Amino acid sequence: MQRMGGHMSRGFMTEEEKANRPKVTGALLKRVFSYLKPYWKQFVLILCAIAASSLLALYPSVLTGRIVDALAERKGVALLVKLILLSLGVTLGSNLIGVGQNYLNSWIAQHITFDMRNKMYAHLQQMSQRFFTTNNQGDIITRMTSDISGVQSVITNTFTSILSNSITLIAALAVMYQRNWMLATLGVLVIPLFVIPSRHAGKTRWTLTRESQACNDEVNGILNETLSVSGQMLVKLFGKEKYEYERYKSVNQRMIRLNIKESMAGRWFFMVISTFSSIGPMLLYLVGGILMMNYDQNITVGDITVMVALLGRMYGPVNSLLNIQVEWIRSMALFTRIFEYFDLPVEIQNAPDAVTPASADGSVEFSHVNFSYDPERQILHDVSFRLDAGRSIAIVGPSGSGKSTIINLIPRLYDCQQGTVYYGGTDVKKLDLSFLRKSVGIVSQETYLFNGTIRENLLYARPDATEEELIAACKKANIYDFVLKQEQGLDAMVGNRGLKLSGGEKQRLSIARVLLKNPALLIFDEATSALDSISESRIQEAIEPIIKERTSILIAHRLSTIMAADEILVVKDGAIVERGVHADLVKAGGVYSELYETQFKKALSK
Ligand code: ATP
Repeated sequence: MQRMGGHMSRGFMTEEEKANRPKVTGALLKRVFSYLKPYWKQFVLILCAIAASSLLALYPSVLTGRIVDALAERKGVALLVKLILLSLGVTLGSNLIGVGQNYLNSWIAQHITFDMRNKMYAHLQQMSQRFFTTNNQGDIITRMTSDISGVQSVITNTFTSILSNSITLIAALAVMYQRNWMLATLGVLVIPLFVIPSRHAGKTRWTLTRESQACNDEVNGILNETLSVSGQMLVKLFGKEKYEYERYKSVNQRMIRLNIKESMAGRWFFMVISTFSSIGPMLLYLVGGILMMNYDQNITVGDITVMVALLGRMYGPVNSLLNIQVEWIRSMALFTRIFEYFDLPVEIQNAPDAVTPASADGSVEFSHVNFSYDPERQILHDVSFRLDAGRSIAIVGPSGSGKSTIINLIPRLYDCQQGTVYYGGTDVKKLDLSFLRKSVGIVSQETYLFNGTIRENLLYARPDATEEELIAACKKANIYDFVLKQEQGLDAMVGNRGLKLSGGEKQRLSIARVLLKNPALLIFDEATSALDSISESRIQEAIEPIIKERTSILIAHRLSTIMAADEILVVKDGAIVERGVHADLVKAGGVYSELYETQFKKALSK
């Protein structure tokens, strides 16, 4: 809103805004006010402050009239000095109240948005994986940042501007009419003279500003896409430097033209405003002068001065109040967007009677599980298997067959629609969520590391781990020699998302992280991406002993990992089509033996 350029241009809506005009219902208003309610005492204070400062701010204009009259009638220096001091004192008082009001205002706005932000963040954290895979990350962040900041501006600007402008306007009119009704009426009549042209000029400027903003967004988009790590790589590998340069240059050029146009429109805008705003006072001087000199002896020079001064103070409030309808709609749209997010149902949550067992053995059972991400397409079909405590299962199958989907159901990243997933003998939907997730550790294919040190990334799993425990985990995960090679050891930075590490190092580091978590069930989603054979065997060396000592599920792509497990499940098109041990499955001549011939064997001979 602020970027639209001055309060004159805020009073226009885009076509999109017009189309998405929110329905303002009693329920919506009640909800908005529920956020303001805890701060009602401060609001009352603000109200008083606004009333006091708006009224006091008008008073010097009235005093100007008396000063002018004191001068015209040569009433003596003492009175003059008194009036001047009074005027200065009132201005000072009004400004001081203004400062206090400002403080209160931003205090309330900050507190309300603080409450909202925290509530929204906590709510979003409860959203299921489905929410994050379907929603654009940019949208989510916009709701968290700009939308909620918008609320701040609604409170600091819209609410207070409605109040203070209405008070100023009413008080100014009252004083004017009390002085002289004819001059006051003239004053009211000249207001449209100023307002209409300035609104017209404002609209032109606003349209240009919007165009240049869109252009700016486009420039940012190009920069974001092409100057990022992976974007640059793509540009380089496809030799698109020249193409991207031309694309950037042409948008940039369009932006220059728009910016120049916009700045000229700005000049015209101010020219129109200043010309028309001087017509009003001149008319008042003219008509007031004629009245005073020819018809009405009671009108003083001071009266006319007060009228002119008050008229000057009315332009701003009139303009602001004309924008209010639009601002109101915009504010309501903002609240509606935020509430929409608050109203998203929490898909996966703790059952009211959730149980928290004392300990878990890591056993898993799937019983006739059907699952789909979207209603149109079923992914898992009647999946049933059992993994006893202390044993391990390798899940193999072609890409896209549903291997990751199966494991997603165990820590309840998604809930299955039919059938039951048991963990430690209890339906996962009936288990306490935090217990379940604490007890299941996953090393995923896409390892995610935060931008920080190796130590920080490890401690994320268990903040109270000792140095010895960190080192032991690193040793087990076969990453300790790498740590030792770093100048800063455990305090070496891993880079943005761990980009400073190789794929193999990242995966071993995340194995160490999961080991620190010490889960009863370990799920290892083996990376399909090509790792060199040394790196691969290092992961292998790390993972094999771990599998032996705890309940584990491995999504395996390499024969050595598959062989390390006690049982192999073969998944195809979301169903378990074969199960058993390697030798038997190869002999059976089914899907597994085909996979063995085409993938595992090849990998073996590398
Ligand atoms: P890969 O070995 O390539 O990792 P996978 O066997 O693990 O494959 P899944 O990731 O389980 O396969 O995917 C199974 C199917 O579900 C795929 O067809 C995929 O397109 C679909 N799928 C996966 N995740 C989602 C999602 N979040 N929303 C909708 N469909 C999805």
